[in-house]
Amino acid sequence: MSTEWDNIQQLDSTEGNVSKFVFTKDSAVAEAVLYRYPTYADRTVICCSTQSGCPVGCRFCGAGDNFVRNLTAAEITSQPLHLLEQIAATEGTLVQDMAKLQIMFMSMGEPMLNQKSLLPALSELNQLHPKAALLVSSSGPRVNYDRFIELSQEISSIGLQFSIHESTDEARDKLIPFKAKLTLAEIAEMGERWAMATGRRPFFNYCVHESNSSLADVGRLLKLFDPEVWEATLSVICERDETLSIAHRRQQELTGAFMRKVLGAGYSARMFDPAGQDDIGGGCGQLHYVQQWFKEHPDKARPSIGFALPVVHAPIEVKR
Ligand code: SF4
Repeated sequence: MSTEWDNIQQLDSTEGNVSKFVFTKDSAVAEAVLYRYPTYADRTVICCSTQSGCPVGCRFCGAGDNFVRNLTAAEITSQPLHLLEQIAATEGTLVQDMAKLQIMFMSMGEPMLNQKSLLPALSELNQLHPKAALLVSSSGPRVNYDRFIELSQEISSIGLQFSIHESTDEARDKLIPFKAKLTLAEIAEMGERWAMATGRRPFFNYCVHESNSSLADVGRLLKLFDPEVWEATLSVICERDETLSIAHRRQQELTGAFMRKVLGAGYSARMFDPAGQDDIGGGCGQLHYVQQWFKEHPDKARPSIGFALPVVHAPIEVKR
């Protein structure tokens, strides 16, 4: 077991393709999620945490109400490395047997608020597993991106995704209350800067709900995010509490319908459906075990900006 953590709990989804790992020690909690599509040898995806809790406070996210601390580089790398060890031990699948390995920095925490640990973690993972795609997913805090862009020039397997989720800043401010963040126009500019520097295409991630999935939304996205530069990830929304599979199916249909509009507008798009959410809370924002840890460690988990704000279970109504 990793020496970085006192305890690592593994929870497997009943359909068998998703496992969640909860890493705990006295001073922090982290979560990582492991997916296979359909086998680890075909495609392995790992989502890992960069902070314990999160100061950003997204209203759909179970980690966003409390912040504990930044994770160290070793605490970040230990998550994917432990998961890869587990796959080798239980399935006999080694990294060199995997046709595709993606490590995503998107489970808990805002990676760009912890670049001090993120950047060395990216370098170390790249050294250990050069074939692994390393995707950093960010809500776009207003910080300096220079060093991240430089490292992305050096390491060609680093990818960048911005979680935008809405087509107007007004709606986005309600969903992501963290104030020191880039506007949508500034995100568009930053993504183009990264694309110019690296020669690779950034993604925008968009959680689809009933109030942000019209043709007018696609029109606004088109004005900001050039389909020649940007690719779209459309995410199926997960509730932050244990949820019903009926609601999940409805979200899948909604996302599928929006996907057709986005493709029609000329974007290259893919759908991200956090499978395994029904029984282990595998989806982004569904950090049930983390929320429990917060309750048990009130002295460590400080309320973040989202703490007193209403939770978003249903789409937010925003006048346009
Ligand atoms: S979705 Fe990500 S950035 Fe937003 S509060 Fe949750 S962990 Fe933080």
